Amino acid sequence: MADLTEKVVNLAKRRGFVFPSSEIYGGFRSTYDYGPLGVLLKRNVMDAWWRAMVQERDDIVGLDAAVLMAPKVWEASGHLATFTDPLVDCRNCKERWRADQIGDTCPNCGSHDLTEARPFNLMFKTHVGPVENEGSVAYLRPETAQGIFVNFANVLQTSRKKPPFGIAQQGKSFRNEITPGNFIFRTREFEQMEMEFFVPPDQGQKWFEYWCEERLRWYTDLGIPAESLRLRHHDPEELSHYSAGTADVEFLYPWGWGELEGIANRTDYDLTQHAKFSGERLEYFDQTSGERYVPHVIEPAAGVGRSMMAFLLAAYDEDEVAGEARTVLRLHHRLAPTKVAVLPLSRKDTLTPTAKEVYDLLKVHFMCDYDETQSIGRRYRRQDEAGTPHCVTIDFETLDDKAVTVRDRDTLAQDRVPIERLVEYLRERLSV
Ligand code: ATP
Repeated sequence: MADLTEKVVNLAKRRGFVFPSSEIYGGFRSTYDYGPLGVLLKRNVMDAWWRAMVQERDDIVGLDAAVLMAPKVWEASGHLATFTDPLVDCRNCKERWRADQIGDTCPNCGSHDLTEARPFNLMFKTHVGPVENEGSVAYLRPETAQGIFVNFANVLQTSRKKPPFGIAQQGKSFRNEITPGNFIFRTREFEQMEMEFFVPPDQGQKWFEYWCEERLRWYTDLGIPAESLRLRHHDPEELSHYSAGTADVEFLYPWGWGELEGIANRTDYDLTQHAKFSGERLEYFDQTSGERYVPHVIEPAAGVGRSMMAFLLAAYDEDEVAGEARTVLRLHHRLAPTKVAVLPLSRKDTLTPTAKEVYDLLKVHFMCDYDETQSIGRRYRRQDEAGTPHCVTIDFETLDDKAVTVRDRDTLAQDRVPIERLVEYLRERLSV
């Protein structure tokens, strides 16, 4: 079904979900921009995560740390020394590859004449301030997690939380990937949704198991079929040096299983490292029991682009309506970019004022689209393709009966609904 990837990528470009970055200059090295529908989908994915991780819980608070941080952070975290991928050169065609992805053959020219693999650090280096020298070097963060660890004491003090509690953060991360690819699956600039859950040391395993289940459920709750998801536990030799257990939530992409999210038991590694390098005490002191300890950390770390891609692939469908083929994105209502489309049956002046009134009524409650171009059939198709759950049609009868027709994307059922009940009707049906 590699075909499905092509269909989804084409739809994403054609309908303005995703554009190649700097396209008028020929694009720029696997970077992408999110268009009008894409930015809505992306925000909805991020909002759904924030809602599940922060809003609906009393044990997790949010944070938004800077992308640029003191270089010492990356020394302490181990990224400067070990955040590398094995790089090989093909001596024949001069292409460079990630050794663990290609075996002993160059995918470009088929040559076996490859150099020995050497570690390549994935962090983007830059300079801060007007002087470019060793002292001004800084790095774009390759993960959001470290911004959380260095703020552990600040959050602990100001939020009055005690372990077990978590700090959640969403934001851009940057990795100079050797071979980006598969559309928005692997890019050099991407968005992460990460949460560090701080627990008493003896509760690490319990919470690791809890978060594996919880995070898997988030994807199925948002409409990804359970059979397209799996939890893959890492073998001991695959574990990062700091990890006491890691599992990936994987999605069955058309090209095979791929990671959506990693859940790791990072033990007390990060807080201990930052305490050592900064000289600050990063621990929890329980005033009632007099107990003092460095919390262990469970981290669910997800990627926005990867899950958007999974949501799009899982939602893509083709069926037939009245003998005509249609493409439909069966996105979960919460993720659908536009919730309601307002469509006057014709462009006649007689309908426009009422249609605009209906649009004005709805737009304060839901993300809406207003479209009066082309035939009603074509406009339905356009909304189906964008995943819009409901279309509201204003026809000539509306002027008399003050009611509109509401069409459901999935069942295609059409209901006649009085305008005065419309907001309530849509709210009941849209699980947002
Ligand atoms: P991979 O093995 O695919 O390179 P990783 O194990 O290095 O990923 P983590 O460091 O665990 O990834 O990052 C957490 C999440 O961030 C990943 O599960 C993924 O969703 C996302 N992510 C990581 N690197 C990228 C990237 N280059 N492009 C898009 N998303 C990414």
